[in-house]
Amino acid sequence: MKLICIGRNYTKHIEELENEKPTDPVVFLKPDTSILLKKQPFFIPDFSDDVHHELEVLIKINKVGKHIDKKFAHKYYNEIGLGIDFTARDLQSKLKEKGLPWEKAKAFDGAAVIGKWLPKKEVDDVNNIKFQLLKNDKVVQDGNTSHMLWKIDELIEYVSKYFTLKIGDIIFTGTPAGVGKIIANDTLKGFLNDKELFSIRIK
Ligand code: ZN
Repeated sequence: MKLICIGRNYTKHIEELENEKPTDPVVFLKPDTSILLKKQPFFIPDFSDDVHHELEVLIKINKVGKHIDKKFAHKYYNEIGLGIDFTARDLQSKLKEKGLPWEKAKAFDGAAVIGKWLPKKEVDDVNNIKFQLLKNDKVVQDGNTSHMLWKIDELIEYVSKYFTLKIGDIIFTGTPAGVGKIIANDTLKGFLNDKELFSIRIK
């Protein structure tokens, strides 16, 4: 399985990193080895002094597809989740400056948190999902999928032009504003429509 990640999908986050607004979605992959194992803490890697949390809504693909039209995209997932795209921002900035790929900054072991899944039918409208990240019980990211530049079904159409989507693949749909540094002993909790879907300790 693969993790397909979308960058720069919320205007306020693009502004906070002073990135250019893309004309197409920014897409990158993480390998399955980047998934943080269940109930394990996240260990800050020694190659970074500035790991950021990026809270993102996740989509789990349940049907094989290629060149999926956005009209039919809703048939390719029936679970919605919440996760973190951990990013070694210092390393990513260096790589970006040189025009190099981002993988070392985003695809390292443990860099993908995947919380509990909810059946899509429990989420009234996928284009109006409220989601929040609490760091040490304080809200640091507060997003709503209604603010996405590319909606979930449009993302499925777009990424399936390039990659065959397979059962179990997961799409990270991009982070809203409020990304920030984590340090040892932080606790991160993710809520989707007020349901807690993960709780992670930082070491
Ligand atoms: Zn991200």
